[in-house]
Amino acid sequence: QFVRRPLIAGNWKMNMDHMQAIALVQKLAWTLDDASHDYERVQVSVFPPFTDLRGVQTLVVGDKLSLDYGAQDLSPQDSGAYTGDIPGGFLAKLGCTQVLIGHSERREIHGETDELLNTKIDAALRHELAPVLCVGEGLEIREAGNHVNHTLAQVEAALSGFSAEQLAELVIAYEPVWAIGTGKTAGPEDAQEMSAAIREKLAELYSQEFADSIRILYGGSVKSANVAAILSGADVDGALVGGASLDAEEFAKIAQFE
Ligand code: PEP
Repeated sequence: QFVRRPLIAGNWKMNMDHMQAIALVQKLAWTLDDASHDYERVQVSVFPPFTDLRGVQTLVVGDKLSLDYGAQDLSPQDSGAYTGDIPGGFLAKLGCTQVLIGHSERREIHGETDELLNTKIDAALRHELAPVLCVGEGLEIREAGNHVNHTLAQVEAALSGFSAEQLAELVIAYEPVWAIGTGKTAGPEDAQEMSAAIREKLAELYSQEFADSIRILYGGSVKSANVAAILSGADVDGALVGGASLDAEEFAKIAQFE
């Protein structure tokens, strides 16, 4: 049914200390094992806080777990006088394979602009981390009917200057800001409408072949109860899950959406 390998990704945000992280990853892996989860069919990844990554690495590598993991942000720089920032090279050394870029909370709280995110994508690519670029509109933009234009402009600005070859591992997560952590979910038609529009934009910027190879996720109050409907859209290739990813059993159920 799926042309692209679905990805179910858990964004833990600023939750779970390094002890709790180990317990959550263990429970998640066990639950998925019990359900005979086929990771080749559906990729599962988690995005814990930076301070958890070493513990997650020890567990995933030590126990040969098939989970992927990544960070929630990275610095555009590689090293130097950037107090508080974490570069992509450190993340790659910790076994991260992906990194979230431009989550709406970073855009809002830290004032991250499309131009900055473009430099963060460059940093991710330098360290062979797959960028998971988050885009999406706020409520006012949605109500004004400008959500598609707004979101496509975010995609185009963030990807400016990169070739299709460079972006082979890119993932795009469409997350309408009004649906994040609010319990409001965009309807499956909304998720499909935007995913199709993003794919069309990628075809226009690069090629149809490239556009058809890129995974586009939906994020915003995804739960086990609504995931199947959301993923029924032909252009929706997975989910970025916030709140529900903190409960191992619920997140495992989401990963087992079929
Ligand atoms: C998110 O943080 O990316 C997210 C989609 O959160 P939630 O699932 O809690 O709405």
